[in-house]
Amino acid sequence: MKQRDLLYEGKAKSVYRTEKRGRLIVRFRDDITAFDGGKKDVVKDKGRYNAHVSSFFFQYLEKHGIKTHFISLLDSHTMVVRELAMIPLEMIVRNVAAGSIVRNYPFSEGAKLDPPVMVIDYKDDSRHDPMLNDDLILALRILTLAELRKVKAISLRVNSLLFDLLAEQGITLVDFKMEFGRQGKAIYLGDEISMDSMRLWDAATGESLDKDVYRFDKGDVMSTYHRVADRITGQKP
Ligand code: 5GP
Repeated sequence: MKQRDLLYEGKAKSVYRTEKRGRLIVRFRDDITAFDGGKKDVVKDKGRYNAHVSSFFFQYLEKHGIKTHFISLLDSHTMVVRELAMIPLEMIVRNVAAGSIVRNYPFSEGAKLDPPVMVIDYKDDSRHDPMLNDDLILALRILTLAELRKVKAISLRVNSLLFDLLAEQGITLVDFKMEFGRQGKAIYLGDEISMDSMRLWDAATGESLDKDVYRFDKGDVMSTYHRVADRITGQKP
């Protein structure tokens, strides 16, 4: 697979066309940002750790019947994926109260959320990703009712698969964000699932094992990402 024109450059990933129709290349860069890009740095090897963890999760989910955009890992920083028309929603599933849900609602940090709480944000940095509800999603014609039900059901299934998988490694999946896209009528899980888009706590110590280490200067991001990537995948990236 050959890398052609740059199609899109996000805050931490670049997406390229390839010589093959319907196939894109996603390159995970070493850039790290937080607070809508208000904090920015370059962390050596971060792209490699996130590519490794994302491809591991996508392959695990595929094995368990979830359709994802993942095709293959091309090199340590780069995935080949199915081209999707992305749906501008951030599907966030929360198992433990932390982050914005604690800032915005009367939850205590660390409170167990059972059943999990799903929050859907409109993906638009210029509007600071406002929260949506079902009526708004339908009124904005982002999804049909049948698609909305389907995307919610897939999100909960992904949560339960990843929650159990991470629990085996002594990691609590506190919350995470997913994005979906369409190819024709089919809906696939897209984007990435990595330490940048999840909140992970060590089940024994409560230590943060994700981007909160960078957001709140809790320690060395590179060594945290390295350790957690090894722990999740059981392999060296
Ligand atoms: P919160 O709403 O607490 O800021 O985020 C909830 C979860 O979703 C966290 O795991 C966070 O990393 C993820 N998340 C929410 N919005 C975004 C986003 O715009 N980009 C990324 N990469 N993750 C997000």
